Amino acid sequence: MMSPISQMKAPEHAPFPKLSSTQVEKTLLPQLNQWALSNGLIMADKTSGSTAKVAPTTVFPTPVPAKVFEQAKNLQKTFNQLYAQVSNSEWLMEETEKLVHSDPDFTGKLYAMAKKSASKQTLKMGLFRSDYLIDQHSEEIKQVEFNTVSVSFAGLSSKVGEMHSFLNSLGAYDASGEMKMFYEGMGELPVSESSVFMTRGLARGFTMYQSVNSETKKEKAVVAFIVEPNETNLYDQKAIEFNLLRLYGIRSIRLTFEEALQDVEYSSFDDNKRMFHKKTGKELAVVYYRTGYTTGDYYSDDCWKAREFLENGYAIKAPTLDVQLAGAKKVQQLLTQDDVLSKFVDDEEAKQKLTKTFVKIYPLDDSPLGQEGKKLALQGEASKKQYVLKPQREGGGNNVYKSDIPKFLKSLDEKDWDSYILMELIDVKPSTENYLVRDGKLSREPVVSELGIYGTILFDAESIRSNEYAGSLLRTKPSSSNEGGVVAGFGTVDSMCLV
Ligand code: ADP
Ligand code: MG
Ligand code: MG
Repeated sequence: MMSPISQMKAPEHAPFPKLSSTQVEKTLLPQLNQWALSNGLIMADKTSGSTAKVAPTTVFPTPVPAKVFEQAKNLQKTFNQLYAQVSNSEWLMEETEKLVHSDPDFTGKLYAMAKKSASKQTLKMGLFRSDYLIDQHSEEIKQVEFNTVSVSFAGLSSKVGEMHSFLNSLGAYDASGEMKMFYEGMGELPVSESSVFMTRGLARGFTMYQSVNSETKKEKAVVAFIVEPNETNLYDQKAIEFNLLRLYGIRSIRLTFEEALQDVEYSSFDDNKRMFHKKTGKELAVVYYRTGYTTGDYYSDDCWKAREFLENGYAIKAPTLDVQLAGAKKVQQLLTQDDVLSKFVDDEEAKQKLTKTFVKIYPLDDSPLGQEGKKLALQGEASKKQYVLKPQREGGGNNVYKSDIPKFLKSLDEKDWDSYILMELIDVKPSTENYLVRDGKLSREPVVSELGIYGTILFDAESIRSNEYAGSLLRTKPSSSNEGGVVAGFGTVDSMCLV
């Protein structure tokens, strides 16, 4: 239970001086708010579209073992390559086809479009994020999921790190009344490079498009952000948009699916289906999806038509449908099987490093492993280990946890169980306490953090053109909530204090 801020004692095991909640509220919160508003660490107000508030964030960075961060960072290029190869494989299409019967309206539609995609563009772009929790027994990272579409917070993540560094520079009175730097004696406070590195990924795609189509002048081409109407996480996207212009001189446009369908046309002068924005004459060099990953994003038939239209066009897509499908939870489960992983990774050492981050994931089908999975799922709370059940969905709020699993499964037709995966819950230690600022309100809570590592990759069927680590994200939620959706209001964007 939360108590009023003024009655709270200072946190005992916090990595920062024992400031009382009142001190935090009176001295730090105004500074935090001013920094955030000045620098765009903000979220848009859904109702107005032109007002914003400070993004959900932590007051202090959260300690993360430096070796854990290194481990996650060093793995990113291997994961990027793995998922690029999966997206290029026949195997992906065969496995995705098996999911269609139980999810015809989403996976089924994406699959059908991917299957008949006729784009002349052979280059594909992945802007990825691999998410991890730290297992409290081994103190090692365990992968929660690998995201291949519309990964967010690359922009805000860099800003939170800068904001924490700013607060650190202020110094403050600790409980004894002494002036101290917040993190005196603490480890490094790395600022995530994601805002710049993810932009660099997009810029590489744009430049490659231009070099192949030399008649496409830079000023006449754009990166098209495909977005939801009334996006609350607008300013996270804006950071990337502004970086494209500031660092690379690359222009952008923002289009909803419906606008894309209405306002973009294929070229009439060649049969590559080069895409042009009718009103401005700008050529779409890169199509960058910040929507399209879940059912609600396709709120009309025109949205589906737009996705197909864009997919078949000549712009480089970030991502193509097959890259998006490679990020399915089902694919993640299959890759934990040695025979499957071995199809894509030859190098024993690389395979071992990847495998070390996997927890047990079961299918719920008729295979021997699937039978085992079903048995465990139905045991619910009685099972020795605890599990989470996941459908083929993205964006948070879709999972079923622990004792809710048996009842949920029984409400479904058993023939549809095979589109879910059953994953062992990662046993995380509530890392520390922190102050969370959400909706302008301060609360002090035991928290759990999820580490995200960004990566960018540009590739075709033959080769990888670039493959890079692209920064990090720490999302922190109260340990009392199963999921920590930042946009949903539970979680916050945080930064690391390496220990
Ligand atoms: P989504 O694609 O919707 O983000 P995730 O697989 O990331 O789905 O699950 C959402 C959240 O659920 C995660 O951010 C994490 O908080 C929690 N979660 C998911 N899998 C696990 C797991 N194996 N152990 C512990 N928590 C998990
Ligand atoms: Mg996801
Ligand atoms: Mg997730």
